[in-house]
Amino acid sequence: MITVVLIARTPDAAAPAGPQVAGVLPASESATSVAPLPGVPRAPSGTTDGVSPGTAATGTEAVPPPVAAPTNEPTSSSAEAVPSSVPTDPGEVLPPNLAVGALPAGEPFAVAGDGSYRIVGGAGPQAGSSPTVVRYTVEIENGVTPTEGDEAFAQFVERTLADPRSWTTVKGVSLQRVDAGTADPDFRVTLTSQQTVRGMCGFSVPLESSCYTRAQGRVVINDARWVRGALTYGGDLTAYREYAVNHEVGHALGYGHQPCGENTALAPVMMQQSWSASNDALAGINGSTPADGKACAANPWPDPAGAEQAAAPTG
Ligand SMILES: [Zn+2]
Repeated sequence: MITVVLIARTPDAAAPAGPQVAGVLPASESATSVAPLPGVPRAPSGTTDGVSPGTAATGTEAVPPPVAAPTNEPTSSSAEAVPSSVPTDPGEVLPPNLAVGALPAGEPFAVAGDGSYRIVGGAGPQAGSSPTVVRYTVEIENGVTPTEGDEAFAQFVERTLADPRSWTTVKGVSLQRVDAGTADPDFRVTLTSQQTVRGMCGFSVPLESSCYTRAQGRVVINDARWVRGALTYGGDLTAYREYAVNHEVGHALGYGHQPCGENTALAPVMMQQSWSASNDALAGINGSTPADGKACAANPWPDPAGAEQAAAPTG
């Protein structure tokens, strides 16, 4: 196999990136699916941010596994499936319905890695008080070099998931970062190049997305989004990154997509906010969100009031 490793030199004026090569693998699920999380119903494997599995969860319910996999299902990845061409064409114009989900202009990101990962060393303390501990690694695809360094990415993930506004209280589990010393983590949070993401998550909707792929137990964070963020979040890259981690880990914990529930309210973290916080706009992209006129405000947290609750006096 030929693996091309290069770092994108996409011009700052590159956005919106146009629809390009669809790096979709044959929908063959790997037989080596990871064991279910303790006490955690399994998420549908088609939890691509690009693609709604067609079932929106309500409240804290998990979505039951789908019977049949959609064609753009995340699949076991291999570098062979990754196109080596640079797909971003600054001159390409997205169709009007997709423009809201375009990748913002910004710094270069990793276009293609080699499909293998390095585990960032360092284990963290248990976050949360539940005896049910969900363990995860933080990993980076070889060929992806975060500007801030591997350790900064790992600490961002760990800090986000340990935040009282994140999943521990909502899901009733504790979360703990582990490293190579733990052979079988429950999931792996992985910073991944744009083209490898397309192979793992699908690209039937030609917008940059991230996903959770059950076959590999990987939370797949797209470096294109990690570097550039999303129009929904304006210039607040930190908040977008918190959203990306919380949303994809939400899939790993069993949650499916949700639409905006109340006009002008904070968006559910399981809404596809990389593309839009407007139901009508999402409906025009994924075809499954109800076009009911509701539009929410960007929100990266499963429980936005968590910090206040944690700090509030009891009794
Ligand atoms: Zn999603």
